[in-house]
Amino acid sequence: MPATSQGRLVVVSGPSGAGKTSVLQRVFELCRAPLCRSVSATTRPPRPGETDGVEYHFLSDGEFQSLQKDGNFLECFEVFGQGYWYGTLWSEVTTGLEAGRWVVLEIDVHGAMEVLKRFPDAVTLFIRPGTREELEQRLRGRGTESEPSVRRRLDIADRELALADRYQYQIINDRFDQAVEDICRILNSLWEKSRND
Ligand code: 5GP
Repeated sequence: MPATSQGRLVVVSGPSGAGKTSVLQRVFELCRAPLCRSVSATTRPPRPGETDGVEYHFLSDGEFQSLQKDGNFLECFEVFGQGYWYGTLWSEVTTGLEAGRWVVLEIDVHGAMEVLKRFPDAVTLFIRPGTREELEQRLRGRGTESEPSVRRRLDIADRELALADRYQYQIINDRFDQAVEDICRILNSLWEKSRND
């Protein structure tokens, strides 16, 4: 896959409810590396306030399958085993890389392992909640998930946490500002280093 010398992938995982999206939003504002976000495709229905093409490309099952059949996904996975698919589109990745951007993929651990097979030099970050109780509180506090969905997400969280040591960096999101600062420090330093190489 062609990439400019400075284009790079940044893979960010962590359990649902660990606060990845909010932390990353702030990182995008503060970090000096030329970050851009890969907008994933999903068959999950939009939550109130979510807009097609912003948080996700919201697709029907048929649309998703057709893209999958035609090889448009770098990786895709039925993340919570409830019939909703999520996937990284090649188009999101190549557009960013060709522009020399650091493309941030916020994806689950299976997706991350797939991406690493193709892009072994990707930067990998795992965002963990302070405690499991915090995770549970955040998932319930969102008010977007049914009780079975919260339970399911907590089960998957345990499995994701067990794979955290496969990532280059682990960030604990028990204090929002600190988590943002930690990620910015890592990315800024890798970015400066890549410019001096
Ligand atoms: P949510 O339904 O809460 O938006 O997302 C649930 C989880 O799906 C996220 O925690 C994230 O790890 C995962 N996810 C989002 N987009 C992708 C993707 O493109 N590929 C994979 N493998 N996982 C994704």
